[in-house]
Amino acid sequence: MDRVLGQSAALRALRSQLATGRVHHAQIFHGPAGVGKFTTALAFARQLLCHDPVTDLHGNQSACGACGSCKLLRQTDDAEESDDRTAVLSSAHPDLHVITKELALFSDDAQERGRKLTSIPVGVIREHLVGPASLAPAMGHGKVFIVDEAELLNATGQNALLKTLEEPTPGTYLILVTSSEHRLLPTIRSRCQRVAYGVLEDKDVARWLGEHHGGLDEQTRKWVVGFAQGSLGRASLAVRFNLVEWGTAVLSPIQRLSKTGRPEPDLGASIGECVDGFAAAWVGAHKNASKEAANRRAAALMGSMISNYARRRIAEMAEGCDPETPGDSEAALEPWLGVIAAVDTFEGQLNSNVNLKLCCEGLGMAVHGALMGVAAP
Ligand SMILES: [Zn+2]
Repeated sequence: MDRVLGQSAALRALRSQLATGRVHHAQIFHGPAGVGKFTTALAFARQLLCHDPVTDLHGNQSACGACGSCKLLRQTDDAEESDDRTAVLSSAHPDLHVITKELALFSDDAQERGRKLTSIPVGVIREHLVGPASLAPAMGHGKVFIVDEAELLNATGQNALLKTLEEPTPGTYLILVTSSEHRLLPTIRSRCQRVAYGVLEDKDVARWLGEHHGGLDEQTRKWVVGFAQGSLGRASLAVRFNLVEWGTAVLSPIQRLSKTGRPEPDLGASIGECVDGFAAAWVGAHKNASKEAANRRAAALMGSMISNYARRRIAEMAEGCDPETPGDSEAALEPWLGVIAAVDTFEGQLNSNVNLKLCCEGLGMAVHGALMGVAAP
């Protein structure tokens, strides 16, 4: 796991727990989405469940990779990329219990199966956590429960956890993974050790790409690092869905527009096609995905790509700013601030059910409006 997070504070905290043998029975891994919280939780579980962990010269422990437990857990390596992530994770190892909102789909209760996947039902917590937590481990080396997106537990679901947190069975570990820690009840937070994750640096994302997607050419890798903005989740999406094409279809025209001031009549349509293409590919790859949710996700990714590009341009200009004539520099920033405002408007429209194609056209026009002044005579 150190390969992903380098010497981050989170990793140091976990290492020290393992080295001193004082692993807290309940932990909250919190921090921004896509920085490796869940991946680290899995790696940590692997070490806790390993029958024969190895210690290096620095006192750092790691899983042996060869025992019965490690062998079973090897199949979870690619689970995050898998479309059946929940099925892979929940069946890999009898003492690793990964709780996700998708588990509701496997419920015996038809009503729960039919629910929209916007929360983790209390039934799932009772069936997959509270029940199994009271039983002895199947392989005799402890049990680990990981609740992904723990903020999706409502108050009833969280309260159902309390007894397990207060009277843990020895050798039982619970990790709550969340990007919205404030949505966990104070009674939960106070009973857990909290491990904070920060945003990854570009070099960490580049290293992760090198290790997991070694086949990318240098230019694509650079592009993906910029798109990722410190999130491995975004980096992974960009590779899987070949979003580097968005750069050619959308950012290149925006760049030309800012340089020449000549209109790019297809910009709005290109934005719409990229968003639609991603959403269709997403729905094709995920059985239970709704097209509407996929559209919104795609549009949000598009918006953040464009505003991130504008922010980078502003940062470049601010660096080269002439202190003698700050007024000139401010005027040069103005168009890019306009682009960011256009994306804000676009994001607001997405939440109010306006036709997506029209929103994309509107964004294209607003970007034109903001940038046309740049190089115009
Ligand atoms: Zn092992």
